[in-house]
Amino acid sequence: MIPTHDSFYDVFSRGKRVKIQWPNGARLAVTLAGNLEAWTETPDPKLRRTRHVGGVNPITAEDVRCKYDFRTASENDYGGRTGIWRILRILEKHGLKASFNINALAAIRYPDAVKQLHAQGHEIVGHSYAEDIQLILLSKEEEREEIRACVKIFQDLVGTRPYGWLSSGMRHTEYTLELLGEEGFLWHGDAVNDDAPYLVEAGGKTLIEVPYRNAVSGLNDTGMYRRGMTARDLLSAFRDEFDILYEESQTDPKLLTMAMHCQMAFPATGKVYEEAIKYAKSFPGVWFARRIDVVRWLLDHCLK
Ligand SMILES: [Zn+2]
Repeated sequence: MIPTHDSFYDVFSRGKRVKIQWPNGARLAVTLAGNLEAWTETPDPKLRRTRHVGGVNPITAEDVRCKYDFRTASENDYGGRTGIWRILRILEKHGLKASFNINALAAIRYPDAVKQLHAQGHEIVGHSYAEDIQLILLSKEEEREEIRACVKIFQDLVGTRPYGWLSSGMRHTEYTLELLGEEGFLWHGDAVNDDAPYLVEAGGKTLIEVPYRNAVSGLNDTGMYRRGMTARDLLSAFRDEFDILYEESQTDPKLLTMAMHCQMAFPATGKVYEEAIKYAKSFPGVWFARRIDVVRWLLDHCLK
């Protein structure tokens, strides 16, 4: 079978730019991306070199005979049990809505948190079934089933479905865009190759690519896990990125995204999220938006 596409460059590098104008003449859009994640009790430690299992220092097959990794599970569980509530409190305090990338398994494990964030008006973004089951491990049909399962789990829990998708590990397959288009998704967000949304086409459908930020950028707190970043480092990365994008956005409106992982939302990290929010709020012409708001705005005002 010929894949939908087999090259990043065919689809993403050639993705069509959009002439962007944000609402009310805003210069820069700022999206806050929460991440609520869950890992399966597997994989077996033997697979832990090939699958992301979270935590600072997960056990491997060589380490122990025991598959049960209490320390890693405990570190991961901080997100759904504790960190999510801090992020929701801070967002409410500042009157902001965010887009939460949520594994379907996290919705099963932490239903109260997901119901609450939905009730508060935050966006639910499909984020694979579990953090450690990346799409690249699945066949095309398994991938389709997984995307459908994610839609159904959120639909059943809160009565609405996600229209955006971020693959766990930000790693999708040559089929993902086509499958997302078929399942009614409007936007996809794995790419990190731009500072503004653009158009991607697959399977005869057009989706909006809403670029993300990885740990290398400093604007994804996963850098605190294995790259030696601290919560304070996030703030300086945020301010630096904000300053440059704000300047460039005067002529060419752009998008800044900060990723906030619930399992990293310790008290000190919460303080940094808050200071970053206050910094961005101190400038005129900044549009805080959910990612779906950005997408709908582009569809309704910039693509007609
Ligand atoms: Zn994730």
